[in-house]
Amino acid sequence: MGDWSGKTVVITGASSGIGEATAARFAKEGADVVVAARREERLQELKDRLSDLPGKVEYKATDVTNQQQVEDLIQFTVDTFGQVDVLFNNAGLMPLSFMKNKKVDEWEKMVDVNIKGVLYGVGAVLPHMLERNSGHIITTSSIAGHEVMPAGAVYCGTKFAARVIMEGLGKEIAKSDVRTTSISPGVVDTELTDTITDEEALDMLKKGIGLNEMTPLQSEDIAEAVFYACSQPKHVDVNEIIVRPNQQG
Ligand code: NDP
Repeated sequence: MGDWSGKTVVITGASSGIGEATAARFAKEGADVVVAARREERLQELKDRLSDLPGKVEYKATDVTNQQQVEDLIQFTVDTFGQVDVLFNNAGLMPLSFMKNKKVDEWEKMVDVNIKGVLYGVGAVLPHMLERNSGHIITTSSIAGHEVMPAGAVYCGTKFAARVIMEGLGKEIAKSDVRTTSISPGVVDTELTDTITDEEALDMLKKGIGLNEMTPLQSEDIAEAVFYACSQPKHVDVNEIIVRPNQQG
């Protein structure tokens, strides 16, 4: 895909952070973008902020844990722009906690958003892409989808799963022109840690990986990598990208 005008990108988790920056990156190139998340006012603000860019931006309030809402998001995009060229499954939560603290509701939320949300996205868009024999599904995994950290058993489990789901899907549809990518960021300066309620986990995070000394990535750094993966010529399939801050071990 060289020219993005007339192409459509759907992004979940676009009300902040990586999703928001990726929406701007594609709209700048002329792609039409549908941004989705639960906080509708943030999506409206984003649409207003990007209104001067060449691509059109629309939004649809979507909770990715609700399968029907994810189906509706894809249908809304097809009805509005005619097709889906890229689905970026990016919505995610990271309420890290130690297992002994038994934050069962947070375990369930992570499984629902980080795994089931990805599956619902794949399920909703795949028939459409296979029918057109064109499209790209890209999912945000993490360094935590490659390495397990203390207080991250469940989060890492969900991010391993997200990565493996992309890999499995890629193998299943290898003969088609539909492509799959998982993107694994290291520390990015976003709102992601706001959901952590376990004080011990917060403390460990601050001390353990030297967050205070590190220059984190910005969301735009990941948006650039997503754009790279989706902009390759048709015969190239970028299956996996890892991007971490220079100082992150
Ligand atoms: P943010 O907290 O800024 O973004 C998370 C996004 O997910 C928000 O837009 C939020 O929107 C959305 N979201 C959460 N729950 C739901 C839901 N049920 N339905 C729909 N949307 C939902 O953090 P990031 O930008 O950092 O996170 C984006 C992705 O990147 C996540 O998958 C995260 O795990 C991953 N990641 C982040 C890293 C980092 O260091 N920041 C490192 C590696 C991976 P809303 O609340 O409005 O629904």
